[in-house]
Amino acid sequence: MFSLTNKKAVITGGGSGIGRAISLLFARQGAEVHIIELTAEAGQQVADEIRQAGGTAHVHAADVSQQAQVVAAFQAIGQVDVLVNNAGIAHVGNVETTPEADFERVYQVNVKGAYNCLFAAVPLMKAQGGGAIVNMASIAAHVGLTDRFAYSMSKGAIFAMTLSVARDYLGSNIRCNSISPARVHTPFVDGFIAKNYAGREDEIFDKLSKSQPIGRMGQPDEVAALALYLCSDEAGFVTGCDYPLDGGFIKL
Ligand code: NAD
Repeated sequence: MFSLTNKKAVITGGGSGIGRAISLLFARQGAEVHIIELTAEAGQQVADEIRQAGGTAHVHAADVSQQAQVVAAFQAIGQVDVLVNNAGIAHVGNVETTPEADFERVYQVNVKGAYNCLFAAVPLMKAQGGGAIVNMASIAAHVGLTDRFAYSMSKGAIFAMTLSVARDYLGSNIRCNSISPARVHTPFVDGFIAKNYAGREDEIFDKLSKSQPIGRMGQPDEVAALALYLCSDEAGFVTGCDYPLDGGFIKL
């Protein structure tokens, strides 16, 4: 079940956290993994891990917010069967405390970065007869998380992007879905705590864990398992959907 044998999978931000778990799992399930990361070094450790386990992995250095860099990376990759638009950055602030430069950067990475990868990947998928795309959204887009104005905005854009691509390419055998995780324990979360709550790391980690209805944060492997299903042929009837993976955050 859920094999990616003979598929080329591109994972943006595959060097850390959720992207790392997706890269490792996809490689274990037979995919040739292509990691797009800000720097080659950022993806190298994961690529080495994949190769040591007998898999195939390549790293492409590109800032997803820069279209020329993204297009060059996809040209080097050639064929693309699976795209996981996972690279993203966090931001804390409400509308009053979000300066224009911060808003722009969150937009550039989280929104334009996803668009740039779709822009490069969709024609390749279309030409080869199909593909599967997963975009990483967030519960922030469902509930408008407190003090996450720019971030929630950026993940809301992912919903509409997912629907639009899913609809436009129904006839091209390209499926497009998104995943909305609640807090998942990754360097993204550790970095946020360290930056904003220095000296209170354990207390805040505990508080954030307990703020999830299920009583803990998610694990990157749990997101990777859902991404694997959505990118596999078994999910052939699934497109245009968002999948919360949230320990009950949205509904309970
Ligand atoms: P992370 O910070 O651990 O990893 C993100 C990776 O993206 C890093 O390796 C980073 O180098 C890369 N990246 C950042 N900007 C980039 C750019 N401009 N170009 C190329 N690569 C870039 O983060 P994570 O927690 O694994 O989050 C991954 C995704 O999941 C993000 O889109 C995030 O918004 C989303 N998400 C995370 C959580 C969470 O609690 N961790 C919850 C909901 C959604």
